[in-house]
Amino acid sequence: MSEIAVIGGGASGLTAAISAAELGADVTVYEKNDRVGKKLLATGNGRCNLSNINAGIENYHGNDTSFMKPALNTFWYDETIDFFENLGLLTKADDDGRVYPYSDRSSSVVDILRLSLDKSGVNVVCGFEVSSIIKRKNVFEIVSYDGEHRFADRIIISAGGRAAPGLGGGSSGYEILRSFGHHITELRPSIVQLKTDTEPITGLKGVKCRAMVKMPGKSAVGELLFTDYGISGPPVFLLSSYYNNADEKKLSIDFFYDYEEGSLFRLLMKKAAGTDAPENLFTGILHKNIGRAILKQSGCPQLNNSGLKKICRTAKDFKLTVTGTMSWNNAQVTAGGVRTEEIDPVSFMSKKCSGLYVTGEILDIDGDCGGYNLQWAWSSGHIAGTHAALN
Ligand SMILES: Cc1cc2nc3c(=O)[nH]c(=O)nc-3n(C[C@H](O)[C@H](O)[C@H](O)COP(=O)(O)OP(=O)(O)OC[C@H]3O[C@@H](n4cnc5c(N)ncnc54)[C@H](O)[C@@H]3O)c2cc1C
Repeated sequence: MSEIAVIGGGASGLTAAISAAELGADVTVYEKNDRVGKKLLATGNGRCNLSNINAGIENYHGNDTSFMKPALNTFWYDETIDFFENLGLLTKADDDGRVYPYSDRSSSVVDILRLSLDKSGVNVVCGFEVSSIIKRKNVFEIVSYDGEHRFADRIIISAGGRAAPGLGGGSSGYEILRSFGHHITELRPSIVQLKTDTEPITGLKGVKCRAMVKMPGKSAVGELLFTDYGISGPPVFLLSSYYNNADEKKLSIDFFYDYEEGSLFRLLMKKAAGTDAPENLFTGILHKNIGRAILKQSGCPQLNNSGLKKICRTAKDFKLTVTGTMSWNNAQVTAGGVRTEEIDPVSFMSKKCSGLYVTGEILDIDGDCGGYNLQWAWSSGHIAGTHAALN
């Protein structure tokens, strides 16, 4: 019976461990935190958006997302839901296809995973931060920062990325993989707030509104929050993954995404007829500070035909320049990671080192906001665990 060591007790590591143990492997999970699944508890605002019915390759980013194809064909959404159902977790989907535990509590997911670890006989070692791994002949020697040494026949690196250091994010997984000859692409925070030029949004800190945020080739609708550094909220999280790839650092906000420009113009014409001062144009329609910001960006024109056209255009295309993202502390996900051409897409085994597998966020694949990252973690974890146990 092969002995498998899983480095990291997060989403993909726990799935890998359970999947390998169910096939009879002797599995040990090494986790640096004092308990496994710490990040999982924080996911989905405590609800754990664990998958998305519509998850497809187009929801992911990386140098070569075609790497994901075998996973999509072997263990994807349907198989994941079956996997969790077999473990005893009931799920449900909302109207946007986001999947949550039926209880609406992320602790249900962590509890089920922990129960399953117990049932399948997985050995869990917490407070063990792996600093290095050395392969001697066919045996891997695992060394902790405390100087402890453990051994295994196969290794699954499921150490996650750099995002959210308070929940386990860090760089040690990348360093271990570098020591086996792997290359890491540029790492960037993703699913994160965006910093913008702040002059156009002066006075808007703390203001929320439903709007469409647009970048070249991509847009998202949802609750937008203005901050002292830029913008936040679900549409921003979604677009932040695309900002990483976009050459263009411009974005614009459509405050009237459900109005055609023509009908907005007619509405504002009517409003202007009964308005004494330009600053009252948006009273009763938008937050007054948003109204002021629109007027300012449109050049504070008169409320005549051409002035209203300018205001109307600005209200539907309020321009901001993106200057960066917030830090790893704020990010949910790491964009970039281990080069996928160095990993076998069918088994997730390293092409640099036989018996070494790599799963989840540490790979150069990141998903949009909406359950896609956990789907990738479950799929890559299950496939690597299965192959590690059978090979
Ligand atoms: C606040 C927040 C909310 C999120 N919400 C969602 C959501 O609702 N839906 C979604 O799809 N995605 C969400 N994500 C992203 C998702 O949680 C991750 O993409 C996913 O957990 C990655 O799984 P993983 O197994 O690759 O890594 P992780 O789940 O990060 O697990 C890695 C584990 O390895 C451990 N570790 C690291 N280095 C070592 C070492 N050297 N030795 C031992 N242990 C080590 C870490 O402590 C950690 O437990 C969220 C992320 C955050 C931060």
